[in-house]
Amino acid sequence: MYRITGPIQSSGSTLKNRPHTSADVSHRPALEQAAVERLHAGETKILEMIARGKLLPEVLDALARFIESQADGIHCSISFVDGEFRIRPTSAPTLPSEYNGKLDGVPIFPYIGPCGMAAYMKRQVISESIEADDRWSDGFRSLTREHGLKACWSTPIFDSQGSVTGTFAIFAECPCVPTALHSHLIEIATRLAGIAIERQRKEERLHLYAEVISRSTEAVRISDHDDRIAEQNAAHSEMFGLTDEELKGQSSAMIFGEEQSARVRAIQDENDQFNGELVTTTHGHPRLIDVSVFAVKDHDKKTVCYVALSRDVTEKRKAENALKDSHAALESLVAQRTAALQQAFDKSKRAEDELRRSEAFLAEGQNLGRVGNFSWLVETNEIRWSEQLYRTFEFEREVTVTLELIGSRVHPEDLPLMNDMIEKAQHAASDFEYAHRLLMPDGSIKHMHLIAHASRDREGRLEYIGAVQDVTQRRLSEEALSKARSELARVTRITSLGVLTASIAHEVNQPLLGIITNASTCLRMLSADPPNVDGARETARRTIRDGNRVSDVISRLRMLYSEKNPQPKMMDLNEATREVMSLSLSDLQRNQVIVRHEFAENLHPITGDRVQLQQVIMNLLRNASEAMATVNDRARELLIRTEQDEDDCIRLSVKDAGVGFSPQTTDKLFDAFFTTKSHGMGIGLSISRSIIEAHHGRLWATANDGPGATFSFSIPCRLEALLDAESGVNRADPTTNAA
Ligand code: ADP
Repeated sequence: MYRITGPIQSSGSTLKNRPHTSADVSHRPALEQAAVERLHAGETKILEMIARGKLLPEVLDALARFIESQADGIHCSISFVDGEFRIRPTSAPTLPSEYNGKLDGVPIFPYIGPCGMAAYMKRQVISESIEADDRWSDGFRSLTREHGLKACWSTPIFDSQGSVTGTFAIFAECPCVPTALHSHLIEIATRLAGIAIERQRKEERLHLYAEVISRSTEAVRISDHDDRIAEQNAAHSEMFGLTDEELKGQSSAMIFGEEQSARVRAIQDENDQFNGELVTTTHGHPRLIDVSVFAVKDHDKKTVCYVALSRDVTEKRKAENALKDSHAALESLVAQRTAALQQAFDKSKRAEDELRRSEAFLAEGQNLGRVGNFSWLVETNEIRWSEQLYRTFEFEREVTVTLELIGSRVHPEDLPLMNDMIEKAQHAASDFEYAHRLLMPDGSIKHMHLIAHASRDREGRLEYIGAVQDVTQRRLSEEALSKARSELARVTRITSLGVLTASIAHEVNQPLLGIITNASTCLRMLSADPPNVDGARETARRTIRDGNRVSDVISRLRMLYSEKNPQPKMMDLNEATREVMSLSLSDLQRNQVIVRHEFAENLHPITGDRVQLQQVIMNLLRNASEAMATVNDRARELLIRTEQDEDDCIRLSVKDAGVGFSPQTTDKLFDAFFTTKSHGMGIGLSISRSIIEAHHGRLWATANDGPGATFSFSIPCRLEALLDAESGVNRADPTTNAA
């Protein structure tokens, strides 16, 4: 009843004509020459219509009519398949218009009708008897029935790529299958319809492309391979301000000038394309155009034309440059700000470091100098203290400082003084200074020196700002110093005795001679005749006076001797020297003397009278300082050196850069009463020598290589052993000692 066939074959049915085409002669049964020519003529006519660009419905209509004219009782329907895979009947000239209407838009689906199935299966579908064929929908069957159509043979139409583009259907008025002629006609019809539809589609596509190009906002220009411009779209014409008439047939040099055009041509000839930016001045002012040129090739890879796409990037580039500039400006601004910030940061960091350092220095300075600061706002009695004051008063850092709290530390004997001072300060805004003592909880005493400066704060309130120095150490040193001085004075007196004895002897000698002379005179007067009693009395009185003078001298001597005699003890010469240095320091500083010392380490202890030896050292330092008093052309340098001398001796030398002494005076330096100073006594060195010699040492002077002199003494460190050896006393033997 029905079938789906492969390629259409002749079925041997009655042929009205025996068609044959030159296109596919081998598959067709032989047709009469006249029929062949007729078919050929028809085919040519249709092809001509296609070539001339006749509209598709017109072409397909002519094709359908031509096929129908070749066989009896058949009606043709040519449909194409749209993009949504629906049947679109295009031409069915002898079928009722109702039929076309019903078929329009039917999806490509097997069981609606033969055309849907043929398109779906991509094969020819033969329905010998539509009525008896249960594959079709009732709608299709009743439609065909109404119009007396009994059989239907539908064949898919293919394009050159093998895709189904439509269907060609023949409806017969009686149930039957296609004859060879029918098949021949079907073959011609599907081929020509395929060409027509494909051509139409291509044209539609071309039209679409042309439309796209002409409406494109991108400027398009087409040139031949000799760079003659053939086409431009509206955007191009507008972009360069050139009409078709002005541009067509011209070279691109008209737009970009000879030099740029030649460059573009050289590149595009070599690479078949060019991409770059060119400058045009067709509008009078320069504009930057981004140009892409590509070659369009034919099947033989020969260049047919060049298509150039142009985009005006002037504004974009300006905007980019402006953006770049503003970016750069922004970056430099940011860099500047960052640098400024960094600088400010560094500065504040430096200031902060500086402040921290200053604070540390201040704290350290306060600590070393034992000075603390305070402020006292009189109106509110608000007192602020520096760290050092808390330490000095030995209060916890957390306590709130009040006048009462301060009073609790002040020595009871000094409390009235302090209260008096507070009272005065509260009423008179004047600076004040006073010294008082603290009595600490452990019973120790601290000496304070307070200085306060009166000022006004922003609100005009009276405020004192001041410093309190803990002068306890200084007090103790001063006490120690005065003790040491009186000790030295005593020793000076004692050690001066040897020298003074000479002058005392002289003084005693005078009255003694007087006594002797007066006594003899008295005797002479008494033995005179008559005895000169008055004269003798007077002479005896003078004798008593001179006697008293001697007695006075003697008692003065006794007084000098009454002090304790020197006691040799083990001592460290370095330490003793250090003490002398600190005692003499203020004198030396006053004379702008730079004191250096080189003390030998691990110096043997010596046995000696510490105070006497210190007096010697002090004398040497004073002489050195005085010798440099007139020196102004060089540093007043003084070097004290101690060293272990040979023969178990310790040497101390004082080297100065002073005036020195002449070789002639070398021998006299140590003589009593030798002095080159206007107020000198000339006994310092002679006493010193006698002290050193008493210690079994020696004292000498040498002139320096350069300016100045060096005075040195050397004493044996094991003096006791020496003394023992000298006196022959064996201290280990108590019997000898007792004797
Ligand atoms: P005075 O110092 O009272 O003169 P001294 O006995 O101490 O007595 O010194 C005696 C003299 O020795 C000094 O007047 C001085 O001429 C000389 N003399 C002492 N020490 C030095 C010295 N360091 N450099 C140069 N001359 C010195």
